[in-house]
Amino acid sequence: MIRPQTCPICEKELPANLTLESPLFPFCSERCQNVDLLRWAEGRYQIAEPLQPHHLQDLDFEDEGEYSDGQ
Ligand SMILES: [Zn+2]
Repeated sequence: MIRPQTCPICEKELPANLTLESPLFPFCSERCQNVDLLRWAEGRYQIAEPLQPHHLQDLDFEDEGEYSDGQ
């Protein structure tokens, strides 16, 4: 019932000695781990770049705040 775990980056089967306890898991090597980190970081930058709708909403709230500035 043991299915070979594969690396999510290169899709190679992980070495048998690489287990959940390994700091590399679930990657087959440090290189693949770094690739995943880079992809993740790039995804974050892409999200951070576009104008966020929150900004526009905040401006709207500021306008309405003039009418209901109880506290
Ligand atoms: Zn790999």
